[in-house]
Amino acid sequence: MSALQQSDSAVWSAIQAEIGRQADGLELIASENYTSAAVLEAAGTVLTNKYAEGYPGRRYYGGCEHIDDVESLARQRACELFGAEHANVQPHSGSQANMSVYLTVLQPGETYLAMDLAHGGHLTHGMHLNFSGQLYNAVHYGVREDDHRIDFDHVAKLAREHRPTLIVAGASAYPREIDHPKFAEIAREVGALLMVDMAHYAGLVAAGLHNNPVEVADYVTSTSHKTLRGPRGGFVLTREANAKDLDRTVFPGMQGGPLCHIVAGKAVCFGEAQQPEFREYAAAVIDNARVLAETLVAGGLQLASGGTDNHLMLADVTPIGLTGKIAEETLDRAGITVNKNMIPFDQRKPLDPSGIRIGTAALTTRGMGADDMRRVGAWILEVLKAVDDAGVAERVRGEIAEFTGAFSVPGIDPA
Ligand SMILES: *Cc1c(COP(=O)(O)O)cnc(C)c1O
Repeated sequence: MSALQQSDSAVWSAIQAEIGRQADGLELIASENYTSAAVLEAAGTVLTNKYAEGYPGRRYYGGCEHIDDVESLARQRACELFGAEHANVQPHSGSQANMSVYLTVLQPGETYLAMDLAHGGHLTHGMHLNFSGQLYNAVHYGVREDDHRIDFDHVAKLAREHRPTLIVAGASAYPREIDHPKFAEIAREVGALLMVDMAHYAGLVAAGLHNNPVEVADYVTSTSHKTLRGPRGGFVLTREANAKDLDRTVFPGMQGGPLCHIVAGKAVCFGEAQQPEFREYAAAVIDNARVLAETLVAGGLQLASGGTDNHLMLADVTPIGLTGKIAEETLDRAGITVNKNMIPFDQRKPLDPSGIRIGTAALTTRGMGADDMRRVGAWILEVLKAVDDAGVAERVRGEIAEFTGAFSVPGIDPA
């Protein structure tokens, strides 16, 4: 019997149930993944016990020599992986990575440009209830109505009109490769700094399959837990010249002690992403997304921008008479996990939008390939076209549980 099971059966039981859910279902949430057993092991260690305010070699606590080794490895590997001069691996999440850059370069009330949440941006890109929308003047650009690609004419027009201190590129629900050099050109023209938030597609950048924002941006922020497949957390990359200011903002400006166990998980994750297998993984994520997108389009769903060239797609489910909320709930009953999402120029509201967002990073980690994606797409279509028939969802749920049994989950099943 495990220590947790013995001491706290209520929490243990909920965790067991979640392990079952993660293993039996089809995980298609675009921001999720299955981290490796090695990352899980590092994140579950006694490093959680240690206070290490400060940075390697400059700590406010004694006994940090081993934490220094871990954090130095994480920083060095992050720099190698992305070709950066400096990495801060302490932000507790992607949101805090973004906060650290805003606090470093913006004064309260100053203007920055970022992608509209309703067009694929993130809460921390200036949503009115978020600190990023409350502390600063966020001006939003979006995608074009005809092809759902970022409207660079509009970005440039807004930049000239508002003269922002900072331009933010990057998105949570944009199915295409982002042209970072184009953003850099506009930022240069108006004298703005450029921050790229690659939270979603960092794994594709690490694999060399998406243009690398480090080459053109002043600051690059990211999560470590999405396509990069590490522990839940954030990090920031920048040039050496900005290192001091950034580090000072993260600590003591914004956070206390780092989560040393998670920093260890990040070090392991960056090491894994340097391996040739990771490039193969990321290439398979993109192939799988393309095949799944083709399957869904053939079945009558409409995809924002008509398809995908990264790890995710946005499907409009209103052409088949559904809403995003109903689609999410119905798929859930069948063991298929997605999230409802606004589509560009959505006429519906965020809590019941027109679309769903679907990503292939997690299923690809389980080893699924193109044929499996055709099968997954067929299940999605079958369930969505029979929302009133609970029997269909129930039957598909059983089929999926049997199907997924053949694919191991890192950290849950033995390798
Ligand atoms: C997920 C995401 C974040 C924030 O990540 P959290 O770890 O959930 O705070 C920030 N920016 C973008 C673009 C994201 O997709």
